[in-house]
Amino acid sequence: MKQISTEIVAVGTELLLGQISNTNAQWISEKLASVGINVFHHSVVGDNLNRVKEQFQHAANRSDVIIVTGGLGPTEDDMTREAFQQITFLDIIEHGPSMEKITEFFNKWKTKMTRNNRRQARVFAGADVIENNVGMAPGMIVRHQNKIWIFLPGVPREMKQMMSEQVIPYLQRLSGDYTVIRSTMLRFAGIGEAHLEDELNDLIKNQSNPTIAPLAQSEGVAIRVTAKADTDKEAYTLIDQTKRQILSKVGKYYYGADEQTLEEKVFSMLKDNNKNIAAAESLTGGMFTEKLISVEGASQVCKGGLVCYDTKVKENVLHVSAETIKNFGTVSEECAEEMAEEICRLLDADVGISFTGVAGPDSSEGNPAGTVYIAVFNGPKNKLVKKFTFPGDRQMVRQRAVLKGFEILIDLLK
Ligand code: ATP
Repeated sequence: MKQISTEIVAVGTELLLGQISNTNAQWISEKLASVGINVFHHSVVGDNLNRVKEQFQHAANRSDVIIVTGGLGPTEDDMTREAFQQITFLDIIEHGPSMEKITEFFNKWKTKMTRNNRRQARVFAGADVIENNVGMAPGMIVRHQNKIWIFLPGVPREMKQMMSEQVIPYLQRLSGDYTVIRSTMLRFAGIGEAHLEDELNDLIKNQSNPTIAPLAQSEGVAIRVTAKADTDKEAYTLIDQTKRQILSKVGKYYYGADEQTLEEKVFSMLKDNNKNIAAAESLTGGMFTEKLISVEGASQVCKGGLVCYDTKVKENVLHVSAETIKNFGTVSEECAEEMAEEICRLLDADVGISFTGVAGPDSSEGNPAGTVYIAVFNGPKNKLVKKFTFPGDRQMVRQRAVLKGFEILIDLLK
C-alpha cells in the first residue's frame, strides 16, 4: 500500500467570515479516514486571487493529493480556476457535455443564460472531468507535476456525490489500499465518564485494533469502538467482539448504539411494555415532554405533561396537598412523589414522572441552586424518588435534570 498525504483547501470568503462552517472539510476527512487515507492539513482561503494562489502553492509543496472545494461557480469572485491556471499555465477549455447540461437547464426554465454561466463549464485541458449529477459545475481531477489536484464544487450536496461516486474509489485505486475503518458508538446512561473508564481500564490499556475511546457527550457518555480491516464484514466482526467484552463489564448501563438517544430508548421501552407516561414539570418547564414528543410515534406512549411551575398550579391543578407543601415545601421528596402520582391520575397515565427543584441562580426555600428531586410513579409498588445536586448554570441544571429523568426511566423500565 502506498501512503499518500492528502490535504483539503476550502475556498470561500463566507467561511472566513464565519457565515458558514467548513463542513465540507469535516465530511471529506471523515470519509477519507474511513477508507484509511491520511488527511494532514485543512485550510480555508477567501475569494482572493493572490491568496488562493499562495495557498495552492503551499499545498503543492507538502501534499500528494490536494482536494479543493468551492470557487468554481459562475461569478467573477469564484477564483479557483483562475488561481490554478496562473500557477500551472494549464489551458482552460470548455467541456462540451457540461455546457450542454447548462444550456439545457436554461432552456428548460426559459431563463436567459449570461456569459458568466458559461464559466462553469470550463475545465483544465487534460483533466478527468467529474460529472455533476445534481448541479452544474463539473469537478475535475488534474495531474500536474506529480501532484493530484481534485476540484469540487462548494455546494455540499454536489461535492458529496462526486466524492462518494468518483473521488474515493479513485484515491483507493491510487493507494492500492482497500482498508476500511469502521466505528460504532456505544451509549451509556447512569454512569459517569470516570467510572466507565475505570471499569474498562484493562481493555483500554490493552487496546490496539479495535481501539476503544471513551467520550463525554452532552447527553450521557459513550465509547467509540473503531476497527481497521480489509472488509466491512471483518471490521464489524472485530467491533462485535470488543463490544461483547465491554458489555460484559458495563452492560447494565448500556442503552443503545450509534445515533440512539435517551428519549428514543425510553420511547421504545414504554412501547414494548405497553405503557404510557405523563410528566409534571416544575423547573424543567416542559423540556422533558418536549424531548419525548420529538421522537416519531410519541403519541403511542406520551399522554402529555403539565408545567406546574408556580406553587398554586401544583396545588390547584395538580392537586398536591396543601399540607405537603406547607410541611415540606415544593422542593422536597414528598412534593415530587405526589406530583408524579397526581399527574398519572390527572392524565390517566400508567407512569408519571415529576421534576421539582431550584434551577438557580438563587436558592429557594433554603435549598441551594441545583437541588432537584425527580420522582417516578409506576403503580404503588413501583415508585421512587431521588434527590440530585446538579452543578452549572440555570440552563445546565434544567437540562441535566431532564437527562437524569430519562436515565431513571431506562433503569426502572428494564
Ligand atoms: P457552484 O458552481 O455549484 O455554485 P462553487 O464551487 O462556486 O459551486 P461556492 O460558490 O464556493 O461553490 O459555494 C457555494 C455554496 O456552497 C456556498 O454558498 C455555501 O453555502 C456552500 N459551501 C461552500 N464551501 C463550503 C464548505 N467548505 N463547507 C460547507 N459549505 C460550503
